[in-house]
Amino acid sequence: MRTFGCQMNEHDSERIAGLLEGDGMVPADSVDDADVIVLNTCCIRENADNKLYGHLGHLKALKDRRPELQIAVAGCLAQKDRDAIRERAPHVDVVFGTHNVHRAADLLTQAREQGPIVEILEATVLEDAQAFPSVLPASRQSQHSAWVTIQIGCDNTCAFCIVPAVRGPEISRPFDTIVEEVRMLVDQGVVEVTLLGQNVNSYGRDLTKRRPLFAELLRAVGAVEGIRRVRYTSPHPKDLRPETIAAMAEVPTVCEHLHLPLQSGSDRVLAAMHRGYTGERYLQKLAAARDAVPDLAVTTDIIVGFPGETEDDFERTLAVAAEAEYDSAYTFIYSPRPGTEAAERVDDVVDADVVGERFERLRVVIERSAAAKHAARVGRSEELVVEGPARRDPRLTSGRTRQNKLVHFAVERDLRPGTVVEVEVTGAGAHHLRGDLLGVVATPRHRLRIPVVAG
Ligand code: SAM
Ligand code: SF4
Repeated sequence: MRTFGCQMNEHDSERIAGLLEGDGMVPADSVDDADVIVLNTCCIRENADNKLYGHLGHLKALKDRRPELQIAVAGCLAQKDRDAIRERAPHVDVVFGTHNVHRAADLLTQAREQGPIVEILEATVLEDAQAFPSVLPASRQSQHSAWVTIQIGCDNTCAFCIVPAVRGPEISRPFDTIVEEVRMLVDQGVVEVTLLGQNVNSYGRDLTKRRPLFAELLRAVGAVEGIRRVRYTSPHPKDLRPETIAAMAEVPTVCEHLHLPLQSGSDRVLAAMHRGYTGERYLQKLAAARDAVPDLAVTTDIIVGFPGETEDDFERTLAVAAEAEYDSAYTFIYSPRPGTEAAERVDDVVDADVVGERFERLRVVIERSAAAKHAARVGRSEELVVEGPARRDPRLTSGRTRQNKLVHFAVERDLRPGTVVEVEVTGAGAHHLRGDLLGVVATPRHRLRIPVVAG
């Protein structure tokens, strides 16, 4: 399995892996050992397309050597490009979209017997139980932390965004099913859940019997016996309600982290994007959240070079970003997506050199506040949930604070992922903190996986 893109895609990949394992497959150690390769794609930006076709190009030689190898392309790009994928890469055996993840195993079997298949469904034709990836069996990447889909699709019309076209209209998952899944996850030893949706604050709007607010869901999930941390992503600033902030402030398990995508600080650009808020309104909501939730970490998404963005527009983005004092940000260069409103504005394209220079200036502003936020944590004691050995230096162990900060620290004996520890923060880097272990607070309850070794 190779996943491109966002958490939704990573979660879909866990489901695809779960279904394939349920069908008797076992994970391969490398591409060369694999009998089936699934590429779960993203189409949010253009370079995602390029990456996919680059990968498929490399896999062609493997397929020529081993014709029995099956290659499947799933996800958003598959949903968007449909037949075009097999036209560009005829060695692909199966193409399936975002609404038929549940068919992964069947489609591979069918293709083995009958030849290549392209199957793309629209969300509306699905049974409820199939629409939500969380309902399917999963092979979770982590045993202590889990994603839980609360909503699929999106009803907004952001001018730059292809998501509504590939993920379909917004559908909320029933309230009780979500809480039940969280209970089940906790029973399996999960200590942290992240509620997933494109616009979580509009959760429940489309439910018919009762229309619960997202805040109610946050409270119900946060009250599940045994859950330690609840996170969510992403709330749309226009729909961020005081009730959600109150729930964050009052429910101890809900983490002090808000990912609030800004996109632009210019009111003119925000209006052209159809975002439904101004820079000032955004900052007011942020200030209210910070007032209510002490020690709130704030992260964001910002797009540079939206069609027609002037120097003045961009300076407003810099000003709002500076005032927001982000802990970190995902900054993106605008990428035209055919089919979106903004992609039609071919006469307003911002010069690539100008965009590059703006991108760099924005990076400096973000890094300044990120560094200050990190430095302010030095000397504090923090609760971490252990993730495992540090990626860059396996002699160190990594964990995350409630604010989602990565902390590296030394241990004498290995700590299992999911262990809760207390550390003293001793140093700050640009993207992580360093700490000294003070003690273990709780050990994980999940069972260890028994590795399956072939032969
Ligand atoms: N639903 C979320 C929201 O409204 O904030 C965002 C979902 S999108 C998968 C993640 C981010 O990708 C967006 O917040 C935006 O910053 C970025 N993005 C989306 N379309 C883009 C485009 N055409 N070019 C550059 N960045 C884009
Ligand atoms: Fe895209 Fe806007 Fe929906 Fe987010 S809210 S997924 S940016 S259309």
